[in-house]
Amino acid sequence: IERDLICSGCGVKVQTENKEELGFVPKSALEKDILICQRCFRLKHYNEVQDVSLTDDDFLKILNELGKRDALIVKIVDIFDFNGSWLPGLHRFVGGNKVLLVGNKVDLLPKGLNHNKLINWMKYSSKELGLKPEDVFLISAEKRKGILELADAIEHFRQKKDVYVVGCTNVGKSTFINGLISEFGGDEEQFITTSHFPGTTLDMIDIPLDDGSSLFDTPGIINHHQMAHFVTKKELKTITPKKEIKAKVFQLNEEQTLFFGGLARLDYISGGRNSLVCYVSNEINIHRTKLEKADDLYKNHVGDMLQPPGKGVENFPPLVRHEFKVNEEKIDIVFSGLGWVTVEQKGIVAAYAPKGVAVSVRKALI
Ligand code: GDP
Repeated sequence: IERDLICSGCGVKVQTENKEELGFVPKSALEKDILICQRCFRLKHYNEVQDVSLTDDDFLKILNELGKRDALIVKIVDIFDFNGSWLPGLHRFVGGNKVLLVGNKVDLLPKGLNHNKLINWMKYSSKELGLKPEDVFLISAEKRKGILELADAIEHFRQKKDVYVVGCTNVGKSTFINGLISEFGGDEEQFITTSHFPGTTLDMIDIPLDDGSSLFDTPGIINHHQMAHFVTKKELKTITPKKEIKAKVFQLNEEQTLFFGGLARLDYISGGRNSLVCYVSNEINIHRTKLEKADDLYKNHVGDMLQPPGKGVENFPPLVRHEFKVNEEKIDIVFSGLGWVTVEQKGIVAAYAPKGVAVSVRKALI
């Protein structure tokens, strides 16, 4: 009889096909007497959490469970991909539980950006999206900035309850949890364990807190609306800023267009001469052209002159147009996962992003 092989660390069914998914073990390790999945292996030997992604179905089960628990929820988003990393629907599941919202990757923000303005925008956007967090924090998990303040707030709001950290893949959840572990001296092998989430096949990282409660790291959900899923891993490295982004200023006349590689496009339609300030990864090529030529240029050159996308261009979604009017106040046009463009003066613009990827506007942050 064939039976499923189970990880002896966390109890998930093991598989040898996909490194990114739950229960992965290398084929060579199948021979061993005691099977342990890669995630548990890393946890045991390096005291390091490795993120895994789960299916929509499993995620729904987790959300359902969260609503039944009496716990504090810490939701992490990527501030460069606020809408893309949002986890829509979470608010319907959290029940009466309090939520802290955390924007990660603050180290990438340009110098002149006022953090309070960003926090206010996050509060406002959360409300629009149906969630009312108790408080909003900006951190850099990688540079270990803001972690202690956040830990204090968690302590304050959890009132001796368990804590669940949620976020979609790539928001920096593992980096954050690893940061917490190291800040709090996670040198004991026992310091973290994995535990089963009842009702699902999922293991969770369980970090004991000093009063007997736990902080749980839930696996990350893949959000299909993220720009990140339409490009290759290598391209993702180009579009994700790696260090503080530098503003690039373009003085545009009416009927001029900017392309951001082949990922997004901004038409400046009318309103006289205007400045557009672009805040995107320093490695993204911004190409300026005339509006009348823009459609043809994209058709003929996406995938070569206008890239990324490169290799995967056949499967890249078509760009969808969103028109905006800029009045007295300058605005940011936010391309989820890519960055934003500040339009300094009055005028009409059209922003294009791949179908499914959010474009939004806000009062300019800078
Ligand atoms: P997870 O999928 O949510 O667990 O995300 P990871 O922790 O694996 O991080 C995803 C990517 O974001 C990695 O390339 C990290 O190096 C990067 N990252 C995580 N935290 C930060 C941060 O605070 N700043 C920057 N610039 N990058 C970060």
